[in-house]
Amino acid sequence: MSITLHGIGIGGGIAIGRAHLVTHADIEVVHYQLTPEEVPREQARFDEAIRTTRKDMETLWGSIPENAPAELGAFLSLHIMLLNDHTLSREPRQIIETQRCNAEWALSQQLEILLAQFDEIEEEYLRERRSDVEQVAQRIFKALAGYDASSHTPVSAGENTILVAHDLSPADMVLFKDTAYLAFITDVGGPTSHTAILARSLDLPSVLALRHARELIDEDELIIVDGIHGVVIVDPDESILAEYRARQQDWQVKQLALQDIRSRPAITADGVDVELFANIELPEDCELSLQNGAAGVGLFRSEFLFLREDDLPTEEEQYQAYRQVAEAMQGQPVIIRTLDLGKDKIPKWQEESDAPNPALGLTGIRLCMAEPQLFRTQLRALLRASAHGKIKLLLPMLSHIAEVRQTRRHLEEVKTQLREEGLPFDEQIELGGMIEVPAAAVAVAHFLEHLDFISIGTNDLIQYSLAVDRNDDAVSHLYDPLHPAVMQLLRHIISTADRVGKPVSMCGEMAGDPQLTRLLLGLGLRRFSMLPIQLLKVKQQLLGADLQHQQAVIGQMLEASDPDVLRELLRQLNQ
Ligand code: PEP
Ligand code: MG
Repeated sequence: MSITLHGIGIGGGIAIGRAHLVTHADIEVVHYQLTPEEVPREQARFDEAIRTTRKDMETLWGSIPENAPAELGAFLSLHIMLLNDHTLSREPRQIIETQRCNAEWALSQQLEILLAQFDEIEEEYLRERRSDVEQVAQRIFKALAGYDASSHTPVSAGENTILVAHDLSPADMVLFKDTAYLAFITDVGGPTSHTAILARSLDLPSVLALRHARELIDEDELIIVDGIHGVVIVDPDESILAEYRARQQDWQVKQLALQDIRSRPAITADGVDVELFANIELPEDCELSLQNGAAGVGLFRSEFLFLREDDLPTEEEQYQAYRQVAEAMQGQPVIIRTLDLGKDKIPKWQEESDAPNPALGLTGIRLCMAEPQLFRTQLRALLRASAHGKIKLLLPMLSHIAEVRQTRRHLEEVKTQLREEGLPFDEQIELGGMIEVPAAAVAVAHFLEHLDFISIGTNDLIQYSLAVDRNDDAVSHLYDPLHPAVMQLLRHIISTADRVGKPVSMCGEMAGDPQLTRLLLGLGLRRFSMLPIQLLKVKQQLLGADLQHQQAVIGQMLEASDPDVLRELLRQLNQ
């Protein structure tokens, strides 16, 4: 029976393909479908794995040396207790039956549910027991591994595969960048979460926040993903399929039409020059940026180099990556943001944060201030790369002037070292700052005294101004770029920068939303930085913009507070 699911569409057009259900990419779990006759045998295999694990643990417990620390026995007893609990030893049997899947897959599904429950626990000791559950599950996985799975064909990414996941972390997404999926959909996620941004950068149809997609969709089932409208249709009938095939073609024709404006200069209908830059995550993204006519890189999220590797990248590895970007962009400006880790971007080599509220914790520049060695290694790599192109530095999450002063001190010391070592770098390298914390937005005049340029990070600025977690789909309806507070902050930031004559750009998702291009031009913005695939759509909007004529509507938008009125005014602006 066909069903339709609604979520947050993050673009990329329409895809029609077969579902492939995955767990988190870092847990490599084989998945195959069973025939109804195979179910009892699979359940027996699971029971056998539980028995083996229990026997191993009891043997271990019996052989604890007398002088061993008391905690060892206590932990082993705890693990045996967890193993005996029905949530681990019985629930997966149920999943094998209902989903007709193999035991490893059933266990991984159950583990995800349990771990999510542990994450909700407030009491620290209990929350910490999460890793015990994980360890016990790993033992069961090992016991299951004795089984020969080769008689089944594992479900893997075939040609027309659509990824169906509960959630994908930015680290998972980096892995998926190398895999050919048609589209992907998740149960959770907000419109400006880093998962969404990466999905957009892949230019794949994607829909987030579908809530129960993984329970409602079977492996290999035919699905339609409409990333434009945030709709997923499971098991569509022939007429719906025909309709979506036609829409898909339509979309592709529009995409091709956009190519015609690639080499046209970015000038509004009434002659105002605009600069369009690209946001990139990895050096490989430069090619697409140039193809789509970017005037440079407005934001290189350098932390993605750190998410890709198992270990911290060395100074040399970083230098090579920054240099690659500088050279690929052929003398155009390249703004590289220093590490913005923390919050949802946790590299594999870093412990999961136990901060009570990571978004207000040691994130962005704060982490760099706390880890000067890490920061200075990056600054050295950046400065060395600046000898090969027009690199500028950008600091994330600024909230105190002291962070800029301290960075300048680090920079001077690193420069002195490099001079002593005879290594070339750009002596005039510019230092800019992200304005994405409301404190920095309100006090932007002070920051401008110490910085060479600023870039507005609307993703975080909106999250912090409106107290709406950008990753939480439960509040995504409150995440509103048109909120009067946001518009007033933007106007204040842009006009203050203009008054003191320093460049201001925008690199948050707002800058890449063609619906907002004319509004931002009206607020005085002239430098936009966005994902490469958004460049042409934004250019198309600005080519038709007449700022003189639109000023009156912009004025009304700044006065309005009713969301319906605002949306109507925006519609007029975009006509
Ligand atoms: C922003 O916050 O708008 C931004 C560009 O940074 P990020 O999305 O990487 O947090
Ligand atoms: Mg940010």
